[in-house]
Amino acid sequence: MSALAFTHLPHPNKVADEVRAAAIADPVFGRVFTDHMVSIRYAEDKGWHDAQVMPRGPLTLDPATAVLHYAQEIFEGLKAYRLDDGSMALFRVDANAARFNASARRMAMAELPEELFIAAVKEAVAADAAWFPPVDGGALYLRPFMYASEVFLGVKPASEYHFLVIVSPSGNYFKSGAPAISLWVSEHYTRAAPGGTGAAKCGGNYASSLIAQQEAIAKGHDQVVFLDAAENRWIEELGGMNMFFVFDDGSIVTPPLTGTILPGITRDAIITLAKDAGLTVREEPYAIDQWQADAESGRLTESFACGTAAVVTPVGKVTRGDIAFAIGAGGPGQVTGMLKDRLVDIQRGRAADPHGWVTRL
Ligand SMILES: *Cc1c(COP(=O)(O)O)cnc(C)c1O
Repeated sequence: MSALAFTHLPHPNKVADEVRAAAIADPVFGRVFTDHMVSIRYAEDKGWHDAQVMPRGPLTLDPATAVLHYAQEIFEGLKAYRLDDGSMALFRVDANAARFNASARRMAMAELPEELFIAAVKEAVAADAAWFPPVDGGALYLRPFMYASEVFLGVKPASEYHFLVIVSPSGNYFKSGAPAISLWVSEHYTRAAPGGTGAAKCGGNYASSLIAQQEAIAKGHDQVVFLDAAENRWIEELGGMNMFFVFDDGSIVTPPLTGTILPGITRDAIITLAKDAGLTVREEPYAIDQWQADAESGRLTESFACGTAAVVTPVGKVTRGDIAFAIGAGGPGQVTGMLKDRLVDIQRGRAADPHGWVTRL
């Protein structure tokens, strides 16, 4: 299965050099795409087949394609980084491959052999290396995803799937580097419930979180914080980033993976790097009231969110209904900065890679 060979289709009309250069000079996240995509098909009777690196283009879907009705769809997000020596590398791609299959299992979809996921990602980077953006914090953002492609309206797991990888040149997620963001606590909408799909990276989780994100923006904030669905009390995560809390005694806390939180690979790396730096890390529930009390007493000194797209983002302010509280001095804190630097230095090949996270391409 891992020996599935990729067919490389010729590209009849690649984007012209000067058009590409302009597009990658200052790319807005998720708006610029490259020349190619990787495509692999699955059918119950054939298994995985038809692996192709092909010109990027629209998909033609029958209106009865299962994903359009029952939302069997999962995705991943990872970056190819440029190392200081000019070569490119992936960060923990094996963890993305494993998480993709965990998501597939939860959504009753076909699993993709991890070697095939990794091979597809490498093919995508190789095909579009010319699109690497020459900007500070630049990367090729890779979006592997899979949808139920069977044409059938019955309510059951599909028997056909389509896996693709598309590539988007990206600069810094936040234009001004990493400003401290303002968070809005969602008290009406929850993201995930016990037994639900919160730990799966599926489009449906985002579909249900958008209204809360829209509310946050309308109220003048950057991102929404979700609380647990059962008690509306425990901090879970943002719409697409995990949360960390830093205390004045050298400890940090992050909510535990109980099935309602997306197991972020950045989250996992931060936990490891924090321990390496001698911090005490506790994966334990943290209540919204406690966050406010600790921020006000000064026991909590920093908070940050993390994920592949925005890396590590300090939180400056939190608003819940008509109550607002500031975090630390309202700007990027020392521990946040230290952990971010350690992470980015490994991703960019500037620091040793003691945990074997970097795959050089
Ligand atoms: C992808 C994602 C994250 C971050 O995961 P990383 O692997 O660190 O990029 C956090 N929360 C949600 C809901 C996500 O979808």
